[in-house]
Amino acid sequence: RRRGLARGIMGTARCLAAHHMAAGTRLQRVALPATRQAQSQCGKLCGSASSVIGTAQRWTHLTATPWQQYTLLSKEPAGAHSHLLRFAMPEGEQCLGMRGVKALLETQVDGEPQKIEKSYSPVSLPSDAGFFDLLVKTYPPRPGGGLGAFLCDLSAGETATLRLKPPREIHGSPDVVNRWQHVGLVAAGTGLAPLFQLARILLNDCRTLASVRLLFINRSPDDILMAEQLRDLQRQHPTRFSVVHSLTRPPADWTGLQGRGSVQMARLALPPPRRANVQQPPQAGMQQSPQAGMQQPPQAGMQAPPHGNSRHLQEPSLQNSRTGGTGIERRQATSSPNSSNASTLEASTTDRLYTNSADPEQREMHPSSLGKTMIFVCGRDGFVSTWAGPRTRSFHQDGTSLKAQGPLSGILEQSGYSAEEVYKY
Ligand SMILES: Cc1cc2nc3c(=O)[nH]c(=O)nc-3n(C[C@H](O)[C@H](O)[C@H](O)COP(=O)(O)OP(=O)(O)OC[C@H]3O[C@@H](n4cnc5c(N)ncnc54)[C@H](O)[C@@H]3O)c2cc1C
Repeated sequence: RRRGLARGIMGTARCLAAHHMAAGTRLQRVALPATRQAQSQCGKLCGSASSVIGTAQRWTHLTATPWQQYTLLSKEPAGAHSHLLRFAMPEGEQCLGMRGVKALLETQVDGEPQKIEKSYSPVSLPSDAGFFDLLVKTYPPRPGGGLGAFLCDLSAGETATLRLKPPREIHGSPDVVNRWQHVGLVAAGTGLAPLFQLARILLNDCRTLASVRLLFINRSPDDILMAEQLRDLQRQHPTRFSVVHSLTRPPADWTGLQGRGSVQMARLALPPPRRANVQQPPQAGMQQSPQAGMQQPPQAGMQAPPHGNSRHLQEPSLQNSRTGGTGIERRQATSSPNSSNASTLEASTTDRLYTNSADPEQREMHPSSLGKTMIFVCGRDGFVSTWAGPRTRSFHQDGTSLKAQGPLSGILEQSGYSAEEVYKY
């Protein structure tokens, strides 16, 4: 019993350390004293699996709020014309949870008063208490716009009119933890914001050891947002998190990926679709050296997943020593071209992965998420269409309409993913 208790304490300490490391950005250090006190209450995030599940559900069920004044606590540059803005939660509200943010600007267009509303995606953890962070880009002013510029022009202590939006449903549920084992993120520009938050949530989660692979597409190296924070995340989770960059207007000395997307890029940078996971032996083109087709990082340590091109055989989470040696069994299962019943083999292998783990936290991972892959795509409409087909709108009887996923097409469909494995943000 004492050994079990000690293991539990070790696990909790490890989780708390991960949580605080992930939260330990430079912005954290300039937080107000009241905020710091509130943060310590959130430190219990990773106590035990059941408390985490409870907490996560409480975040997802937080509701929308009316327009209110939010005070800017701090502001930091975050890349091309962009800032990380930290806002204080208002009185009576502690954690943002999984809610999005809407900003309001009251301005004049052609002498007429006009209200402009735009959405923003928090990049901080839902459990961060007392504050939340937005990554906001400034565009040159134009009539009917200017919200990004307005927010980025604020100084600490000034306020913005914001309201919180209810959590977004991802294929029927707002929960993101413990649903998938392999997560791929395809981001362009400020489309990084919601996907960065997702990566932080998943990597910070103590139960799952889900792997996260980010493919970040920008025009030039200077346009890469949150470069420092991405490097930090990689340093903290070297086996679980990888970043691959592609540029559409690369400089002459760029040796990495180029373009806004292709099936080959998807194969290089993202976890494979489940079908490929189970049935496909590695393809000829996937056996090159890890360097082939991979670009130099804008700065050292920014990318280069340890699995390189042969990722069908070497999942980061399976390489992790905490998985108790089951990776070899899994590799045999996924790489055998003669496997006559690959699905059965996969099921029995994941069972072993679940039950044989030496780590109690790993054992707490819900078996239903094992082997599951999800790819998130976020960027402007044209970018999302290229990767996953256009989003559509669903119309309701009261005349309102909501953005809907629309059928899957584009690069991800051509790469073998099913509609359930893709979410268009
Ligand atoms: C759900 C959601 C989450 C978002 N999250 C963020 C975020 O975290 N950070 C962030 O900076 N922005 C985010 N945006 C975009 C944001 O809402 C505004 O559109 C953006 O700040 C530009 O508004 P503006 O008034 O500053 O500039 P505007 O004057 O309206 O825009 C300047 C020009 O930029 C282009 N442009 C800007 N944004 C878009 C876009 N989304 N789609 C197509 N063209 C565009 C247009 O060509 C426009 O002419 C999000 C949008 C949505 C729908």
